[in-house]
Amino acid sequence: ARTGVVVVGAGPAGLALANVLRDRGIGCVLLEEQTRAFIEARPRAGFIEEWAVRALDDRGLAGNLLSTAPSQGRFEFRFENRRHPFSYERWAGQRHFVYPQQLLVTDLVAQYADNGGALEFGVRDVALHDVDSSTPSVTFTDAGGTARRLGCDFIAGCDGAQGVTRRHLDGHLLTHDYGIGWLALLAEAPPSADGVLFGIHPRGFAAHMARTATVTRFYLQCPPGDSADNWPHERVWSELHQRLGVPDGPLTEGELIEKRVLDMHNYVIERMSRGRLFLAGESAHLVAPIAAKGLNLALHDAFHLAEAIAAHYGGDDGPLERYSDTCLARVWQYQEFSQWLSDVFHSSTLDPPADPFRARLGQARLRRLLGSPAAAASFAEIYIGKAADF
Ligand code: FAD
Repeated sequence: ARTGVVVVGAGPAGLALANVLRDRGIGCVLLEEQTRAFIEARPRAGFIEEWAVRALDDRGLAGNLLSTAPSQGRFEFRFENRRHPFSYERWAGQRHFVYPQQLLVTDLVAQYADNGGALEFGVRDVALHDVDSSTPSVTFTDAGGTARRLGCDFIAGCDGAQGVTRRHLDGHLLTHDYGIGWLALLAEAPPSADGVLFGIHPRGFAAHMARTATVTRFYLQCPPGDSADNWPHERVWSELHQRLGVPDGPLTEGELIEKRVLDMHNYVIERMSRGRLFLAGESAHLVAPIAAKGLNLALHDAFHLAEAIAAHYGGDDGPLERYSDTCLARVWQYQEFSQWLSDVFHSSTLDPPADPFRARLGQARLRRLLGSPAAAASFAEIYIGKAADF
């Protein structure tokens, strides 16, 4: 069998790409190793930048999101037992939409499948062949156990951090480890504030982010490699109250329905393409969730790749040749911002190691951000991802 594009992975990147290709009449088959039920229930991101929502809407992919998702344009730093609000909407004129990733995935699967898009769930043993030729192919075992081969013009590697497609570009991998862990939590509790809370505290960083009216994500800094088993209910809530609480802003507790340790690290594959293989999203770059950028970058890549493939079929290969550079420009802006924000978030931490010099640098950054309009405008622009294609 043969198609135009084989898309490996039905995360936000693969689904956004496949929807646009299908809409443009470009043949496309989407291969996903999990079941539909699994990917439609997998909770991860929740904050989508306004430019990305507009890009989804321009392609007819934001119907449910726009009619149901609340939006936010401010957050609070909390330190020294006080609130320090920051309105990025005031400086950048844009907001985040709060829409759990699994809802976006559910919408994109429905839109694609309901319009006749070809999609195989439960595939195994995906392998790429002849990516350096103009006739690459993908072999896999389908959910029924049959070994199959699909010839194609292009392969889109959208299979995330644990996927197989990025192995074809391993020689271009750059990595960075923050040496920090975050305990990622989902609580069955309504949000305790109408915006994100960032707690900067000697006991470690903590954060609060709305997901829905009844579910809230929290993060607690912890040692890298820590076990979620070390964090029983009482310890989690005690730390959250200490690191995030202020006298007039109590936290609402609830049952913890997800609890896992994320070691904060980043990577970038410096060339996102090889021959007819193009990577998009987390297969090409991981940004630790410090600045909530990963999903947004996945969508950015997907839309650029879709336009570039469409241009190829229109006789213009320029956008495909520029694809990697175009995407990496935003990737590096977001990586740099995550590093900057990580230095601020984790600078006051006493364990490990107490570093008063680093703590003073973090405090100086916060004072400048909260006191200087020019600093606030610059921060807001990159925080909401406006004009990040420098
Ligand atoms: P994925 O979503 O990982 O999708 C890859 C798909 O490929 C998966 O469905 C997988 O099953 C499939 N796959 C893998 N291997 C194969 C294979 N061999 N064959 C076939 N299919 C395969 N980002 C934000 O922007 N904002 C946030 O607030 C935010 N919060 C986060 C919180 C947490 C706890 C985590 C873990 C991440 C968060 N992120 C956030 C990051 C965001 O979730 C990811 O960046 C996003 O999922 C990347 O999308 P993707 O399509 O590139 O990859």
